[in-house]
Amino acid sequence: MDKSKLHPDTLALHGGWRADPATGSVAAPIFQTTSYQFRDTEHASDLFALKELGNIYTRIMNPTQDILEQRIAMVEGGVAALAVASGQAASTYCILNIASAGDNIVTSTDLYGGTWNLFANTLKQIGIEARFVDPQDPEAFARATDDKTRCYYAETLPNPKLEVFPIKEVADVGRKLGVPLIIDNTAAPMICRPFESGAAIVMYSTTKYVGGHGTTIGGAVIDGGNFDWEANAKRFPLLNTPDPSYHGAIWTQAAKPLGPIAYVLRMRVTLLRDIGAAESPFNAFQLIQGLETLPLRMRRHCENAAIVAKALAKHPKVTKVIYPGLMKGEARRRADAYLQDGLYGGLVGFELKDGADAGQRFIDALELLYHVANIGDARSLAIHPASTTHSQLSSEDQIASGVTPGYVRLSIGLEYPNDILADIHQALDKA
Ligand code: PLP
Repeated sequence: MDKSKLHPDTLALHGGWRADPATGSVAAPIFQTTSYQFRDTEHASDLFALKELGNIYTRIMNPTQDILEQRIAMVEGGVAALAVASGQAASTYCILNIASAGDNIVTSTDLYGGTWNLFANTLKQIGIEARFVDPQDPEAFARATDDKTRCYYAETLPNPKLEVFPIKEVADVGRKLGVPLIIDNTAAPMICRPFESGAAIVMYSTTKYVGGHGTTIGGAVIDGGNFDWEANAKRFPLLNTPDPSYHGAIWTQAAKPLGPIAYVLRMRVTLLRDIGAAESPFNAFQLIQGLETLPLRMRRHCENAAIVAKALAKHPKVTKVIYPGLMKGEARRRADAYLQDGLYGGLVGFELKDGADAGQRFIDALELLYHVANIGDARSLAIHPASTTHSQLSSEDQIASGVTPGYVRLSIGLEYPNDILADIHQALDKA
């Protein structure tokens, strides 16, 4: 059967796995092992020389991770994937895989705070410059590009603003200049398909919706196989010149017998080998379980969020609701262009008339929703960013990032919608 023809909803259950040939186990086994017995010395040396692909050591690959990687690549419509220990490891590797000291990346300003810090501070520490541009202006990416630009980077549905990124517009700008677009699709799995709009690489914090139950930290990088790294050889020396750490391999050439996977192959055999943010086999199992119900859960997250957003919009204490389905103009056009079937994600922001105090009173009054710094759990979650995730920023920077003092972020879960509404209403009464 040609599984590539199956719908993503089906691939979430069937991608990359049928049954264990040794035992018949239908559920993916947890291969809790560090290492793998070589058949003989020739086998061992072929594996190390990449003449044959196979298991060597779980820091670099593992059969449970492999099922997750195949499945998430198939669901996303990519050619190959790498599972890593966290979303932060995924975004770090995405950049380090193609950029060295003296290079730069051009990134949207609308980023998760951890990614912002990584780009603005940690990358700077190793000599990689992040150039931040307004995501609403695709040409700003072109203006910030020079010969040392290695990629564009953005989130599909960045919170707190929840304005969908112009994926095709910026991917098109990049393709003219030979610059790949990397998309963090953490907040919009299943409902946004960045490869179809020209993104070259998609990454996830699988900690969120993919895992879906608030149990497991993980990350994934998926190679779209659609970017010609060789045609832009000058821009990508790490993929097109001999790699001294791998007996002179040139990754665009070495990958050829395996398919258009030079980017993700290099990431596995050099970055994961050297830096080692490997996903544990148990966590990979949890994420496989999560993927199986992701299509169903994502739909329910989105439907519940739409109900909550509409209810909030009618509440007298709420001055503004931030939710793609209630946006107007260009923001709405983009939401409808990039998100499928009128599903606008599971995140909802709103502003309270009485500012920070009201925001904190609302959070303290919640009885069903959890007060946590996470999104994408099966349970509904809430946080007051001005006093938590964004508290290190100056008040001007908070406002610029979309966080007003009375802003509350909700990650709407899978509960019966009236129960979510009842808790929100009783907390609003006390806010
Ligand atoms: N990207 C986005 C959009 C996120 O929301 C997060 C975490 O909140 C990350 C990346 C980082 O992922 P992790 O917490 O799995 O390292």
